[in-house]
Amino acid sequence: EFGEDEGDESDLVVRPPVVTVMGHVDHGKTKLLDALRKANVVAKEAGGITQHIGAYQVQTEVDGEDRRITFIDTPGHEAFTAMRARGAQATDIAILVVAADDGVMPQTIEALNHAKAANVPIVVAVNKIDKPDADPTKVRGQLTEYGLIPEEYGGDAMFVDVSAKSELNLDKLLEAVVLTADASLDLRANPDQDAQGLVVEAHLDRGRGPVATVLVQRGTLHVGDSIVAGPAHGRVRAMLDEHGNELSVADPSRPAMVLGLSAVPGAGQNFIVVDDDRMARQIAEKREARERAAMQAKRRVRRTLEDFMASMEKGESQELNLILKGDVSGSVEALEDALAKIDVGDEVGIRVIDRGVGAITETNVDLAAASDAIIIGFNVRPQGKATEMADKEGVEIRYYSVIYQAIDEIEAALKGMLKPEYEEQALGQAEIRAIFRSSKIGNIAGCMVIGGVIRRNAKVRVIRDGAVVADNLDLASLKREKDDASEVREGFECGLVLRNFQDIKEGDVVEAFEMREIPRS
Ligand code: GDP
Repeated sequence: EFGEDEGDESDLVVRPPVVTVMGHVDHGKTKLLDALRKANVVAKEAGGITQHIGAYQVQTEVDGEDRRITFIDTPGHEAFTAMRARGAQATDIAILVVAADDGVMPQTIEALNHAKAANVPIVVAVNKIDKPDADPTKVRGQLTEYGLIPEEYGGDAMFVDVSAKSELNLDKLLEAVVLTADASLDLRANPDQDAQGLVVEAHLDRGRGPVATVLVQRGTLHVGDSIVAGPAHGRVRAMLDEHGNELSVADPSRPAMVLGLSAVPGAGQNFIVVDDDRMARQIAEKREARERAAMQAKRRVRRTLEDFMASMEKGESQELNLILKGDVSGSVEALEDALAKIDVGDEVGIRVIDRGVGAITETNVDLAAASDAIIIGFNVRPQGKATEMADKEGVEIRYYSVIYQAIDEIEAALKGMLKPEYEEQALGQAEIRAIFRSSKIGNIAGCMVIGGVIRRNAKVRVIRDGAVVADNLDLASLKREKDDASEVREGFECGLVLRNFQDIKEGDVVEAFEMREIPRS
């Protein structure tokens, strides 16, 4: 129904890269998206008024060739992550915007981590270089520390100094996107098949009814095609581009606003072209039911350390993705350092995909859901709807206040032997009736078992006048008459010696218990 291109290699043609702009608030994402759209004058002159339809395409010349680039017109990584959480990967390349006066900020790193988690190559737009206090070199240095190394320093990330405001170097930025796509991605699609793709944005228009901006990922979409988009279906009545021009066809990577749907689909949902509208309706109905069921199932599936172990045993998962949140940066660093030292062989590993100081946020949960990660909270708690969302998405949040405990559990999980939980099981009680002092083997308690059973290898505690005076002790010996006994039952006398506790008194009660493993469900 949805997925791979049809045909073979020879049917595939190069398609434009799809780009998302991410970065810290106020670093100029919106301004840059506006400037890039505006700079594409040729297409604009041909049509009417520029409109925001959720995505647009620009043209640029690289090495004498006309190349196109598609931009998702929603700034920020929330949209990007929300789509990924739905299983949709709309983005081929991320432009990370960093204001040259401000430098790298928390959301810069967050965006970087989101792109890395999605394996999306990054082009850095060092913005606001028109400002007198702009320091593009500092930005390069800062990002180098996060593993994003500029080409000029021998790395493989392209950095371009731009000004969205003065429209400076925008062509260089577009060129960098094309070059990055050519260097690290093989972006091709079959244009000669029924169209498939994603819904980027949708809303209910008063005059036009449901409108959805779709991104064609393979095939070619035509006016008149019967489509299913999420739970919506219909015949494509008309298509418009970002300039308000009518389109009769939309080829791979082309965003188009589609009119004629029965309902408003959600961003990140798939669309496909089918034979006729009757079929479209049937599929839409089936899809809706399936989606509802999937949502419910997802709610039940929790991504836990145990799940990770299970998938490891099946040979599926080799990497445990973690998101670390702590109260202070020192604790997060300490935790990450300690995690880095865990060594359980080459087969399995830990990948910290995001870290930060402060409460666990909805964005953290979003990323965890999209990357199958577990969130480790160190002396922090969730904020807002984060817990609710984690429950819904099946994301596990584990809380710790002691570093070694967090490390122990994660190491245990990696070794595939997470410590089981135990509960106490009472065995029996014996009352001390007489005490025989022996310097060699310790004080021997002459007892009567007054209930249950005392076992040689049980744990014991000493109770005096209703209070526990010693707990979790082992028996050094247990004898019935003169012989060693493995257990002595109610109504029988026995002699016992406690290990590491000699301060017993007549009348004390020795209580035996066992720790029993609780089966994990
Ligand atoms: P966003 O939150 O990342 O989308 O940031 P905006 O695009 O809204 O920009 C934040 C502020 O920075 C606005 O006041 C912009 O006018 C300004 N700004 C954006 N780009 C530039 C630039 O290249 N130079 C200067 N001087 N200001 C800019």
